[in-house]
Amino acid sequence: MKRIVLVLGDQLTPTLSSLRAADRSNDVVLMAEVATETTYIRHHKKKIALVLAAMRHFAAELREAGWHVDYVTLRDPVNSGSLCGEVRRACARHGAAHVLATEPGEWRLMRDMAQWPSTTVLPDDRFVADRHGFATWAEKCTGMRMEHFYRLMRRKTGLLMEGNQPAGSRWNFDHDNRNPAPGPLGLPQPLRFEPDAITREVLEMVAACFPDHFGDLTPFWFAVTRAGAEAAFVHFLRHGLHDFGRYQDAMLSGHRFLCHSVVSAYLNLGLLDPLAMCRAVEIEWRAGRVPINSAEGFIRQVIGWREFVRGVYWWRGPDYAHSNELDAHRPLPAFYWSADTPMHCVRACVTQTREEAYAHHIQRLMVTGNFALLAGINPHALHEWYLAVYADAFEWVELPNTIGMSQFADGGLLASKPYVASGAYIHRMSDYCVACTYDVRAKEGPKACPFNLLYWHFIARHADQLRHNPRMVQMVRTWERFTPEKQARLTRDAGHFLASLG
Ligand SMILES: Cc1cc2nc3c(=O)[nH]c(=O)nc-3n(C[C@H](O)[C@H](O)[C@H](O)COP(=O)(O)OP(=O)(O)OC[C@H]3O[C@@H](n4cnc5c(N)ncnc54)[C@H](O)[C@@H]3O)c2cc1C
Ligand code: SF4
Repeated sequence: MKRIVLVLGDQLTPTLSSLRAADRSNDVVLMAEVATETTYIRHHKKKIALVLAAMRHFAAELREAGWHVDYVTLRDPVNSGSLCGEVRRACARHGAAHVLATEPGEWRLMRDMAQWPSTTVLPDDRFVADRHGFATWAEKCTGMRMEHFYRLMRRKTGLLMEGNQPAGSRWNFDHDNRNPAPGPLGLPQPLRFEPDAITREVLEMVAACFPDHFGDLTPFWFAVTRAGAEAAFVHFLRHGLHDFGRYQDAMLSGHRFLCHSVVSAYLNLGLLDPLAMCRAVEIEWRAGRVPINSAEGFIRQVIGWREFVRGVYWWRGPDYAHSNELDAHRPLPAFYWSADTPMHCVRACVTQTREEAYAHHIQRLMVTGNFALLAGINPHALHEWYLAVYADAFEWVELPNTIGMSQFADGGLLASKPYVASGAYIHRMSDYCVACTYDVRAKEGPKACPFNLLYWHFIARHADQLRHNPRMVQMVRTWERFTPEKQARLTRDAGHFLASLG
């Protein structure tokens, strides 16, 4: 009996579990561009174009490999607009009675699929850790931390191991990875790709169908094939990896990518294999071409953080999205969309996000995330923003990063302390403050950097919670040592600034 093998937009992997379980000579692969997926959140135009262009190229790759692929385009007049509707129509078209699928990357679709008749949902095994195994491990942990999980993953994969010991005698080289931005000269650029005919057609369609969505559609230079993504990664190995560790936390106005790999979108679509990437990075270190702090730093992000946040996402369930332990309710300021703010750091990060659908980790965590946390922005509104604006944003990875790591909205389940910092941190790690209307050295008054004002306002607001956190108690004590007059001035200035957000 013929089966429909559903392949989703972020499942562009030839060894996907559903394809492995299917019969190439008999089953039909269904790929469908549907309105529910392109609009359940108002995705950045570049993100929609990337996903759809990569889907169309993957369909061609599967056809070349001998699969019968039924591809439904967004503008097909009989497109039902939903995945469920397209699966039903495909079953009728091909006389299929059963559907094979690989589990999707979010609760929304997982719950939807559970209602579909005659559907087998197979595990997504494109990760190093099994999500059920993660949940079992997490339940047993007291004080669950990424670092413990990461060591398990190092042992499991053998990456950067010498027998049972970590290579270089340390698990973590983070202390070597905090250099401020270098001068822009000599920094690499990610590999850019000219859109081919298939991609140009998608770009034209996205321009016509999503004119009101956030973000610039062009120039569009992402890779949209496995070969392109692999070339982009090899380019990073040659040109970016060496200094990846050193400048991992740095930010520079004129240089949006520094030594970052810019491969997260490719990885999350399934165009790259995380383990193969990490093995390639290890080879670079063993061959003496890159230092261990860079190799370890990169591998930790991929088999550590990436796997860890996925584990947390599935373990904590759909309600995790509504965590709000710090009771933050301020609406998202309009400048998260318009970039219209005198704060140069925020303006630079939002402008870059609008143009590239990309910002690196520290820009997300310590500029837009830090500001939102300090200002008490509602974490769910911020989650919807991050999910919309980045090309690599899929809920399983974006949500725990936003709710847990960036906003401390889960009360410290994922991060051991809130990632808050005053302007001094941004000044140390970037050149943003030089061109800012505000004065990063001013702690009070109309010219004071808003991050400075809001920092103490945050500490004061949450003093009762933070005094129980060993990594924050010192800041609470410092606030309490300020004279009542100073506390009143800081509270007043921060209050004025917050009121100006509307
Ligand atoms: C608020 C917030 C939201 C985020 N949303 C996303 C998201 O939607 N999708 C996403 O892939 N990443 C997200 N991240 C993590 C991280 O910012 C991006 O993975 C990274 O910036 C992608 O750029 P890159 O490929 O150049 O990464 P590099 O700096 O070169 O790092 C290499 C790889 O490590 C992985 N990685 C690094 N940090 C993390 C992390 N914290 N969690 C998961 N994987 C990580 C990525 O796959 C990345 O490609 C978010 C971080 C924050 C603070
Ligand atoms: S002075 Fe403050 S607001 Fe301006 S760029 Fe620096 S940190 Fe950002």
